[in-house]
Amino acid sequence: MEREARRGEAETVRAVTRWYDENARDLPWRRPGATPWAVLVSEFMLQQTPVERVREPWARWLERWPTPAALADSPSGEAVRAWGRLGYPRRALRLHGAAVAIAERFGGEVPADLDDLRSLPGVGSYTAAAVASFAFGRRAVVLDTNVRRVIGRVAIGEAYPGTSPTRAETAVAEAYLPDEPAVAARWAVASMELGAVVCTARRPRCEGCPVPERCAWRRAGYPEWSGPPRRGQTYEGTDRQCRGALLAVLRSSDSPVGPEELEAAWPEPVQRERALASLVADGLVVGPAPEDGGDEVRWALPGGRGAGTSAP
Ligand code: SF4
Repeated sequence: MEREARRGEAETVRAVTRWYDENARDLPWRRPGATPWAVLVSEFMLQQTPVERVREPWARWLERWPTPAALADSPSGEAVRAWGRLGYPRRALRLHGAAVAIAERFGGEVPADLDDLRSLPGVGSYTAAAVASFAFGRRAVVLDTNVRRVIGRVAIGEAYPGTSPTRAETAVAEAYLPDEPAVAARWAVASMELGAVVCTARRPRCEGCPVPERCAWRRAGYPEWSGPPRRGQTYEGTDRQCRGALLAVLRSSDSPVGPEELEAAWPEPVQRERALASLVADGLVVGPAPEDGGDEVRWALPGGRGAGTSAP
């Protein structure tokens, strides 16, 4: 019985990696010349942003900061500025922090070891496994939402994974992981791609799937999700949108910004103040800096041009 299960897992891996060989999207961070730093940057950017919105900022970022040391030498505010409209800008500060840690503790080279990777700011279990696997070809269980959905459907027969991986789910994923590191790395990227383009959350395209006969969810007739309600992400009118609008003003300015410019970007005062306070608390914005001899206050990106200075 167990041997049969192992054989089924191995066949799934073979079919999915073969499918990947013929269908993989050409993503620049997957090309052979991509450095571990380029892969790490892509993983930070892709954490909450779709692939198509990441391509250009990723290329610009690496042109400007081709190594961790280059980014570590720049003020963190410049990282926030260059992050642009990728969203969730705390990632920019964490990526800057990771670059500083790599420069200081790892001689400027992105480490390959899982524990070393996890010791970097902003690098959790998923990102560490992804970098170890994609950049260094190591054997690691890479569990992003796409992989979790594929494994959940194929092996467990559930439409969607829970909020975070359980031990049981991780054990199932480990059972699929091939012994050979290079094959394991191929499986990691292939299963992720399958979830991203075929076995999607809303409309799986089972007719294009390489493992339809192995899919427990399909065999069971696609039972409906019985877990907690899945909420769609709303953005309009949220504090997140407000934070984005305020940050856009600061990014586009070479000098500290006063209250009237922020008010023009987001007129609603209570939410604006709350969002501003949270940006300051997160270290994405510095201020307010009282103007010399006056009571006007101004804000700026951290360590960037004009940060920490009084208004002219
Ligand atoms: S058969 Fe359909 S639901 Fe099952 S893994 Fe393939 S695409 Fe996903």
